[in-house]
Amino acid sequence: MGVRLIIMGPPGVGKGTQGEFLAERFGVPRLSTGDMIRAALKAGTALGERVRDYYEAGELVPDEVVLGLVAEAIDGSEASGGFVLDGFPRTVPQADGLGELLTARGIGLDAVLSLEAPEEELVDRISGRRVCGACGLVTHVRAVGEAAACPACVATLVQRSDDRAETVRNRLAVYGAQTEPLLAYYARSETGLTAVDGTGTLEAVRDRLFETLRTAEMAG
Ligand code: AMP
Repeated sequence: MGVRLIIMGPPGVGKGTQGEFLAERFGVPRLSTGDMIRAALKAGTALGERVRDYYEAGELVPDEVVLGLVAEAIDGSEASGGFVLDGFPRTVPQADGLGELLTARGIGLDAVLSLEAPEEELVDRISGRRVCGACGLVTHVRAVGEAAACPACVATLVQRSDDRAETVRNRLAVYGAQTEPLLAYYARSETGLTAVDGTGTLEAVRDRLFETLRTAEMAG
């Protein structure tokens, strides 16, 4: 059975990590617009150059850019059995665009999940986040200490360029102004919105998400 989910929530709430758990659980890809943009920046493509300044400032990149990326990903063979959308949609026009895209393909969403955590915790999680440029592992200074090597592949862990303190505050403000209105948008939609507590250990949040979907008769 194909499953089509959106995982929403503020920066640092754990969308990427939990989105990956969900994707594995259902055997579908996690489609992260943030990851797609970072890949384009790293590869130095024309699209990457077009969005670099927005990304570095913690601003949203133009709607048509992410809508194009998502349409391509949804039409890819990997996503034919479903997907977990992570970090998209982030604006009302993006949500409208997604709705049109799905309708045109005769498919719908099974659930829209909203992960929640207090702002102090988000700032702590983001400012301590470290990523491996080689294997993509995401961890936290609490787990590995400062200036550590990646525990998976021993390459050097780095801080995402948009995880610096000055950018983090802007990303949270952008979330509040542009993305938070989508919670009401989906709450009013046919699919509805399911809020899930994002505090606690990775495993606790994962189990809460699985349980929520099981209750909704999706996780079997
Ligand atoms: P993320 O990894 O999801 O936190 O995204 C990191 C950055 O990529 C954001 O701060 C934006 O600059 C850009 N980005 C990711 N997804 C979107 C989106 N759906 N709409 C606009 N910008 C996005």
